[in-house]
Amino acid sequence: MTKLLVANWKMNKNGKECQDFLDTFMAKYSGQRAAWIAPQSLYVKLVINSGIMAGLQNCSEFVSGAYTGEVSAKTFKEMGGHFVILGHSERRQYFQETSKSLNAKVKTALKEGLKVVYCVGETLPERDSHQTLLIIGDQLHQGLNDMSEANAENLIIAYEPVWAIGTGKTASPAQAQEVHAFIRDELTKKFPAFGQKIKILYGGSVKPDNVEELLGQKDIDGGLVGGASLKAQDFLALCGDK
Ligand code: PEP
Repeated sequence: MTKLLVANWKMNKNGKECQDFLDTFMAKYSGQRAAWIAPQSLYVKLVINSGIMAGLQNCSEFVSGAYTGEVSAKTFKEMGGHFVILGHSERRQYFQETSKSLNAKVKTALKEGLKVVYCVGETLPERDSHQTLLIIGDQLHQGLNDMSEANAENLIIAYEPVWAIGTGKTASPAQAQEVHAFIRDELTKKFPAFGQKIKILYGGSVKPDNVEELLGQKDIDGGLVGGASLKAQDFLALCGDK
């Protein structure tokens, strides 16, 4: 499976900074690993125009209509967008998103033909009380409830332990692999035809100096990256292009 690195730029970078990154990145990017970028939604067109797979960091569960401030998956697809990140822990923490409420967004985005990077992950107290697999299982079952198997080929899961995001703490490769193997089993039970093919990304302080060991694990198919995706040189290194 080709490894996939997804950049989550969060609410960083103005237009000039996005364009400078894209110019530097595209000059050296070889394509040996797939690279996708989710900038602030205001700048998705810059990413689309650069030829890189472009994503949103959230979208509406509704397709169109009187929903002030929302962003439509259908419109994004029509303008050439490719994917959406749903269920990031910052959305769960600051915007009251739950696996149940995310289920509607997942289904809408898939129905509109976008790829979905659905994020799951446990907090530190949950890990310390040995609930990690229980929590991840619930987030998968609720978030993907009632999803048709035909759409599973457009699904990507990102395992992001909340305690490792933006903290500099990374799950050890063995800790990450244990959870990825569990996710793989759950996906295979739910989607017998596609479970083995769904990419499972690891996220949480992925950096050039730990990426190879993480990507060397059997069930780690790539990374969802915040901080280290903001510098073109670092993201190039994650993509295998020094
Ligand atoms: C993230 O925000 O999804 C993330 C993994 O951030 P960082 O790489 O900075 O830990």
